[in-house]
Formats: sequence, C-alpha cells, structure tokens
Amino acid sequence: MHVLIINAGSSSIKYQLIDTRDEQALAKGQVERIGIPGTSLVQKARGKTLTVEKDISDHVGAIQAVLAALTDPEYGAVRGMDEIGAVGHRVVHGGEKFSASVRIDEAVMAAIRENVPLAPLHNPANIMGIEACQAVMPGTPMVAVFDTAFHQTMPPQAYLYALPYDCYTRLKVRRYGFHGTSHRYVAALAPGYLGRPAGAVKLVICHLGNGGSLSAVKNGQCVDTSMGLTPLEGLMMGTRSGDIDPAIVQYLMDRDGLTIAQVMDLLNKKSGLLGLSGKTSDMRDITAAAHSGDESARRALQVFDYRVRKYIGAYAAAMGGLDAIVFTAGIGENDAAARARIADGLQFLGAVIDPVKNVPGAVGDISTADSAVKILVVPTNEELAIARDTREIIEKA
Ligand code: ADP
Repeated sequence: MHVLIINAGSSSIKYQLIDTRDEQALAKGQVERIGIPGTSLVQKARGKTLTVEKDISDHVGAIQAVLAALTDPEYGAVRGMDEIGAVGHRVVHGGEKFSASVRIDEAVMAAIRENVPLAPLHNPANIMGIEACQAVMPGTPMVAVFDTAFHQTMPPQAYLYALPYDCYTRLKVRRYGFHGTSHRYVAALAPGYLGRPAGAVKLVICHLGNGGSLSAVKNGQCVDTSMGLTPLEGLMMGTRSGDIDPAIVQYLMDRDGLTIAQVMDLLNKKSGLLGLSGKTSDMRDITAAAHSGDESARRALQVFDYRVRKYIGAYAAAMGGLDAIVFTAGIGENDAAARARIADGLQFLGAVIDPVKNVPGAVGDISTADSAVKILVVPTNEELAIARDTREIIEKA
C-alpha cells in the first residue's frame, strides 16, 4: 500500500509517500509559507527535485499542490491519486483519549478539537491538514497518529503535578509527553540490539533533536517522560528553556515589565542553546564555536549535557535499574562528541562508552564489551512508524 504521511503546521506541510511493502519513501516534500506571499513546494522523488513557487492561500490549495507534485509525470512518484491507499496524519495532542493511533471519523475529529486548548498552536494546524485532505481526497481512509499516545501508560505518580487535584480533574493539567511516535519506534528496536525480549528491558530513550525529550521505558511501556503539559518542560533544547522555577515567570514580568506572552516567547523561542550561547540554536554551530574557544558556547554545551545526564540518573531510579541508554534524533544519532560527554559521569551506573565504536555514523551498540548498561544509537523514523500504523489500521478494517 502507498501511504501519504502528512505533518501539517500552521503555514507549512511536510509529507512523505511511503510504499509499505518495502517501507521505502517514494517521495519526500515540504510546502512552506502557506497563506503568506512566497509559497514554495520542494519535493524529492526518484532522484529528481521538483520546486514549485506559486502563492497558495490555504491548506486545501497546499494539498492540491502536493497531489499534483506526487502525480507529476516527470517529477512525481505515482500515476494517479488512486494509487494512494491511505493518509496517515501526525497529530500532536491526543490528550487522555488516545493511547494508540486511530482511524479518523467524526468522533475522532471532535476529540482532536476538544484537545485544542492543550495544544493551541499545533492541533488547529493538524485539523486543517486533515480537513484539507478530506476535501481533496474524499473516500481515502485516514489515520491519526498522536505524539502523546505512547506516554499514556505513565502511572499517576509520573503524570500528576503537585497542584490542587482539581487542576487535573477539571482542567486536565498533567504530564502528557511528546515525540511519542519516535520513542515508541526506537523502544521497539532497542531490545533487538540487546538480544533481549522487549518484555524484560529497562531503557532510557534520549530523543535529542531541535526539541528534545527523554523517556523511561520499562518492559515496553513508557513510565515517565521529560516533556509535560506542553513540549516546554524537561531538557534544555534548541530554543526552549526546559525545566525552570515557575516563579521566574513572575520575576521576569516584574523586573523587565514583560507581558505573559513575551515571557512565554522568551521561554519557547529565545532560550535553550540559543539563549545561553547568545548565538545559535543549532548544535553543529554551538559545537564548532565551543571548539574555537567560545566560552558561552562551551557553557551552553555543559548545561545541555548535564541536564540529559541528570534525567538519565532520575529515570534509572524511576525504573529501579537500567539496561540501556538509547540515543536518537539529529543530535543523538549524529553527534558522537555529545554522546561521549553525556555518558562521561555515568560510569557509576555501569554505562561505559567505547570511543572506538562511538564514531559518526555509528548505529547499534557503542558501549564497551563489559559495560553493564549498554549504550545504543538507534535512528528514529517517525514517518515510517506512522505509515505502519496507518496500513495496519486500514487493512484491519
Ligand atoms: P527536529 O527536532 O527539528 O526534527 P532534528 O532531529 O533534525 O530536529 O535535530 C536537529 C539538531 O541535530 C540540530 O541541533 C543539529 O545541529 C543537530 N545535528 C544534526 N546533525 C548533526 C551532526 N552531524 N553533529 C551534531 N549535531 C547534529
């Protein structure tokens, strides 16, 4: 089956067409600046790149452009829309309603809409993407795959905040966690590298990209994760602060006369690696700057590493032990130096990285033969995970 994967943002749509028989991506593309002058579509398929520059005012127009590109006789990947068997949509917030992917119907759409207050930026964009596909591809079955779903197995002590209980029951304030599709995909592959059944391993998955989160996965189930009600909590990220004392919000408002919106903007877009380094949110640039003696870049790296290491220790305690630390996403998969720095200090847990194995391009076990806790690199593939879920749900129906 050919599955179209849609990841819709408010002004962009990322997409892939995956053939589920051999699990290869037939086409990958992105539409940017939807509803803003200067819309562009860039697609790679069969070794050719198609670039279309034409203003598109809404998501329906963008999906029409995606289908035109996918079926383009010269640059496309399929002959007609009828070759696309299903669409899999990435949906950010499934709240407590969804612990797995589901076929989209009216009730599911209503539930995604109900979760808009929990993800006011993301869920409306996801809804626009789904509705646009429904308008342009009526009759094609669609599946929603939620970023939050994998984390729904967390026990109350992990997902409750120590706020008045009514904040949870009435307002649904709790830890949800994100990047769940990636954590699930990687957690399913890791036991294979350990030669152990998934039902008997304790893993800490480190998804380190622009956004970053850790999860504690015990016997295949998520028992804790570092992102919370929103993706702002937890690790230090590219531009997000991660954990802070919540009273800092009031303090910044009072001292600098900022509005709450300005403080939230500071925490989401001006903090993290960008904020501490004062230069860039990109790990490659920070590392290069630190190498050439830039003190602020070095400081930013130290805080980044320390926070990941601290969470690994916390999650080992949460699970009562640890079998493997698993690195994934842009930084986790590619940055051997970051992995080495993070692991340095975890020897007390029995986790010892092997510098010979921990090289760029490494996949699998990068720990020493006698390391009691294994350290793995497992590349993530969220689109493939969405394609698999979509095929499974549609074929079962
Ligand atoms: P997103 O969260 O946007 O999907 P990615 O998973 O692509 O992000 O990760 C982006 C991060 O990965 C950036 O900070 C980038 O610098 C970093 N990264 C990518 N390749 C490398 C590399 N070879 N070495 C160090 N960092 C890298």
